[in-house]
Amino acid sequence: MIKIVEDLKEFLPQLNACDTATCKFCHEFCTMYIEERAMSYTAHGLQKIIKRIITGEINPKDAVERIYRCTTCGYCHYVRCALQCNLDIIINARSWLIENGYVPVSIGKLLENLVKFNNPMGVSKELIDLEKLGVKDGKEGVEVLFYIGESRYDERNAKAVESAIRVLKAAGINFGVLREEANSGDLALRLGEIGLFEEFKEKNKEILEKYDMVVTFSPHDFHTFKNDYGLDNVTHISVFFKELIDDGKIKLKKGKGRAIYKDPCYLGRHNGIFDEPREIISSIMNLEEFDANRYFAICCGGGSGHVWLNLRKRQRASQILAQEIQEKNVDFVITACPVCTTMLEGENVKTLNISELIEKFLEV
Ligand code: SF4
Ligand code: SF4
Repeated sequence: MIKIVEDLKEFLPQLNACDTATCKFCHEFCTMYIEERAMSYTAHGLQKIIKRIITGEINPKDAVERIYRCTTCGYCHYVRCALQCNLDIIINARSWLIENGYVPVSIGKLLENLVKFNNPMGVSKELIDLEKLGVKDGKEGVEVLFYIGESRYDERNAKAVESAIRVLKAAGINFGVLREEANSGDLALRLGEIGLFEEFKEKNKEILEKYDMVVTFSPHDFHTFKNDYGLDNVTHISVFFKELIDDGKIKLKKGKGRAIYKDPCYLGRHNGIFDEPREIISSIMNLEEFDANRYFAICCGGGSGHVWLNLRKRQRASQILAQEIQEKNVDFVITACPVCTTMLEGENVKTLNISELIEKFLEV
């Protein structure tokens, strides 16, 4: 859970310690560092800047874009930094920038879209025909609520959601989807718009806690509900499907070939869920790994709104992943997050969401 403070100065002891630290453990797989290859683009670099904003040595205007470059991938926070406070500091710094009128235009647009359209892309039309798919309304006394999130508005990811729905139906799950679904507030929180996040949380929390189980399509929404709302009745669809496979409600055929799995930061590093998607894939075909995987997995580069932003100067993390995929010459690239799908497909890598993989190899 992100710790929100009254005054950024509360972080000064940590910021001072980091400023003089020689550890610099935070750089190797930091998404910004991977993309820009400069120490100023690391948690350490950001914290130096944030400290100097607090002490008045830097004009916030000159630093604002840098502070929004972090994808909140969690590498510094969970894996390497002895201080373990980087994400709290970065989110609070963003909140301070917003409150003091320094928000970049591109970030402001995403937030405005969230308010107006319930999604950061600014898409007004939902793309999934729930009636045609025969999905019950989540209000109709169902056991499981399937929370779709922003993929309701995204053409590519809507297709993967439809696969997930067909698999849930084939497994005989008594589930429903809310016809009107409020945004989880994940992006609002990561961008530091705490007030907007609280508004979304207020709309959702009371509704979600009534269900036996809430299953999310996106790891970002799963993380937000579990860790930022504090709900304990929420799971990610990959984990839910693994349970259904173990219970014999989903049976999978064997396939041929080799598949590589892209760990989503908000499933893996942030929540320690690494095994379930891998076990599903390897029950079907051979599983190949990225050289950096699990806690060290390279972020797709799309977190914290970067899937819709263009602030990079040197290269995209997704380009590095695409190159490794090409070198490994695998037959399938499996994702479990809509952001990873968008980023990899943006590099012309054809992907299968884990729900699409299951539907493809479903034994009927
Ligand atoms: S969260 Fe990721 S991108 Fe942000 S500073 Fe930490 S390692 Fe770098
Ligand atoms: S690992 Fe943590 S304390 Fe060390 S330089 Fe990086 S952010 Fe600072």
